[in-house]
Amino acid sequence: MGPDGQPVRAGEPVATPYRCPKDGGRLLKKSGRFGEYVECENRAAGSCDFRGGVPVGVPCPEEPETGQLVEKSSRRGTFYACWNYPNCSYTTNSLEPGKMTPPRPPEVREEANRKLLERSARGKAAFAKRRANAAARKAS
Ligand SMILES: [Zn+2]
Ligand SMILES: [Zn+2]
Repeated sequence: MGPDGQPVRAGEPVATPYRCPKDGGRLLKKSGRFGEYVECENRAAGSCDFRGGVPVGVPCPEEPETGQLVEKSSRRGTFYACWNYPNCSYTTNSLEPGKMTPPRPPEVREEANRKLLERSARGKAAFAKRRANAAARKAS
């Protein structure tokens, strides 16, 4: 059921209480081929490109104003990462108080975030290169 008592139709965006970390816009929950996600209401207008996983309801301890933790899965199991990834590198394996990864000191955090952004940029560049190579092979 939706907040107004009407049944929610599948695929229909649902308003959430969360605010966009980029421009403070309302976040709408949507569902796609890879499951549910949230995106900024201003995406439609083209003024904001924020999109992220559905928050689990626990703010990122390193930036509680703008960060929310979302569930991720890897080969080693489920963990939680900040929706500002790769701008924020915080992750934790547990959401239980006392078992969560504690916030890192600012200098450690900034260094980790810088490295993650570099890795992510390198990965994107490698992906673009592979795609360009594949296109070139097709054309020849
Ligand atoms: Zn936004
Ligand atoms: Zn964060």
